[in-house]
Amino acid sequence: MLRTTTASMWASSARILRQPLSSSTTRFSRTAAVSSLSASTRLFSISAAASSPPPPPQHYNSTTSAAVPRHPRVLVTGSLGQLGSGLVKELRSMYGNENVVASDIRKAPEEFMASGPFVYADVMNYSMLERIVVDWRIDWVVHYSALLSAVAEKNPALALSVNMTGFQNMLELAKVHRLRLYSPSTIGAFGPSTPKNNTPDLTIMRPNTIYGITKLHNELLGEYYREKFGVDFRSARYPGILSADTPPGGGTTDYAVDIFHHAIRTGHYDCFLSKDTRLPMMYLSDCIKGTVDHLTYPTPLPQSVYNIAACSFTPAELAAEIQKHLPHFTISYPDPSRPDFRQAIADSWPASLDDSMARRDFGWKEEFGMERMVKLMLDKIQAQVDAEKKVASSAVTNGPAAMAA
Ligand code: NAD
Repeated sequence: MLRTTTASMWASSARILRQPLSSSTTRFSRTAAVSSLSASTRLFSISAAASSPPPPPQHYNSTTSAAVPRHPRVLVTGSLGQLGSGLVKELRSMYGNENVVASDIRKAPEEFMASGPFVYADVMNYSMLERIVVDWRIDWVVHYSALLSAVAEKNPALALSVNMTGFQNMLELAKVHRLRLYSPSTIGAFGPSTPKNNTPDLTIMRPNTIYGITKLHNELLGEYYREKFGVDFRSARYPGILSADTPPGGGTTDYAVDIFHHAIRTGHYDCFLSKDTRLPMMYLSDCIKGTVDHLTYPTPLPQSVYNIAACSFTPAELAAEIQKHLPHFTISYPDPSRPDFRQAIADSWPASLDDSMARRDFGWKEEFGMERMVKLMLDKIQAQVDAEKKVASSAVTNGPAAMAA
């Protein structure tokens, strides 16, 4: 494993931070930023009051005057989505709660608010983001805010703004404030003319979905900023991610999460993809581990963007694996003459990825194949259902007593 100690990792970033800042104040989405300035300033001050920046980190030991390495301070955008909350938890366990600033444009649940700093951050608003970077002395950004494939296809204009303007704002901030920027791409950045099987990092990329177009734009722009301005831009093309604890955010691979909930709750699932649609997939904890290993790698890697994958399967294969645990589970598929709109999206994506470069360059390796993933998803969702039943039955039991009292 190529991982190094926090101190040595941080020393390399500290060197970057000591470089003079660029005087550039270029702003993308100036119109959006100006038009939403008053509202966003108000929102920022509300969230800042609720969760104010900690005192500046200790850079020097006053007795020895020697530089004392500190942990990087990380901003995570879109942290309330399917992937963000797990990553925030992992980074906080590594660097301390106060060093990981979670953000989103939605209200966070109580327990999330209690676990560390959380701020409102609309990624389309450059000045709001810049203020967070400055106030919290941010060193690294994990940029998770995005509209996923199915949602984006229903609202292309918003997808262009959130996925492209949001990313351009982060990239510009990374340049101006010498931030390390990790922003995932997706298998959706490939297209129907891309080789379908064992798709390599470098190949034909002509996506025909708005999600894919925005993500490919981000990959290329990130590479440009890395070459031109030395921005430490890092990205991995995630496959479909499966998680039992956090709901998926409107992607084409969402079926592979929904199927488990239906299998346990109703015993039947109406799949929106055809039974032989093969797509690359990964369990959430593997995605978090791969992201952390990539993000914390002490030096920039040979490539800006890497494929990472764990396994590939079709809905029929997934259903068969679920049936090994739940023999009565049944599944149905759409009428081929009236496919769901997500079928065309899935058909334009690779069936499997070649991720050998990520394995070589930062030691990427998955822990979960399909069989282990299915067992874990079923166990976790069954435990959730059991807990819900327990709460419901105790409400019934306590109801009359409470009323009598
Ligand atoms: P998600 O849809 O679950 O979460 C995205 C978050 O972004 C949401 O919490 C939303 O509130 C937030 N957001 C939306 N508009 C915003 C704005 N204007 N400003 C700030 N935040 C805003 O997405 P996810 O599944 O957690 O995905 C995270 C990243 O991983 C995305 O870049 C996505 O493209 C990528 N990815 C995810 C998958 C997957 O299967 N989940 C696969 C490939 C790539």
